[in-house]
Amino acid sequence: MRLLTLTVGPFAIITVAYWVAAPTSSAAVSAVTTAPVRRIPAEHARDVPQDMAARCQASADRLRQVLPDGFEIVIRAPFLIAGDLSPSKLQKVHSDVIGPVARALRETYFQTAPQDPITIVICSTEDLFRQLAKDWDGHLEAGYHGYYQRDKRRILLDLEAGNGSLAHELTHALSHADCENLPEWFDEGLGALHEEAAYTRNGQGLIGLPNWRCKLIRQAAQSGRLPTLEVLTDSSLFRSGDVGLNYAMARSICLYLQDRQVLQKYYQELQTRWPSDREGVGTLCRVLGAKNPTQVERQFAAWIKRRNSP
Ligand SMILES: [Zn+2]
Repeated sequence: MRLLTLTVGPFAIITVAYWVAAPTSSAAVSAVTTAPVRRIPAEHARDVPQDMAARCQASADRLRQVLPDGFEIVIRAPFLIAGDLSPSKLQKVHSDVIGPVARALRETYFQTAPQDPITIVICSTEDLFRQLAKDWDGHLEAGYHGYYQRDKRRILLDLEAGNGSLAHELTHALSHADCENLPEWFDEGLGALHEEAAYTRNGQGLIGLPNWRCKLIRQAAQSGRLPTLEVLTDSSLFRSGDVGLNYAMARSICLYLQDRQVLQKYYQELQTRWPSDREGVGTLCRVLGAKNPTQVERQFAAWIKRRNSP
């Protein structure tokens, strides 16, 4: 869940946003990354089902039955992009953000292309977003501005919040297509990592950057309140208590793995080791060369402290 952000200028630029427990005054902390992006010619097509275009069209026909008046749809398989925006603006969201981010995510992490259409519904106002979230999915919570609905393979976004977490939600949708069994904390951490990210120099990969969530982690480390791995990896605990801090912790662990250059390895090993390591803790120890979770926590805390240093 959470926001999207997007594009500016001829280059896709991912910025970010906030959502759950985001400090309201920081309104989206959006540092802009200006890494040049080399346009990559075509969508990955090697393992896209041949009937994907027809299925997208059929999904669009069904979607049209439930969309409010004034919504348009454009199809860029495997994506259906709908919203109360003109078709040209929807198309621009795809060409500037969805397409480049999806390709970079695919190159960085994912082996399998989506085998089913993915629907992205963009609302230009928060009121409209809340109305659709309530009518379609029964979501009444006020703390978020976007989410991915796994059973419907559908992203719903509030653009009024300032371009939110399209990259976050896209990560969910594409990781869902590639691997159904990611631990929840890592799924959220990886999505949050791409809320603020830069393209690699050749434009084919994404690198997560520090964002406002890092401040929460620094403050927690300084006051001895870093969530333990036990809390982080327990889904019910992750979704209770200080949820914003838990998200920040999940994202920071991903940043740590990325800094140690084992993030992609961790993602890959999670899939093969999932049946025996459903929360990913054993695999975390393994890729970090740690003897146990406590050692991972110590290494992580030391890394946070070093990053804090001048
Ligand atoms: Zn999420």
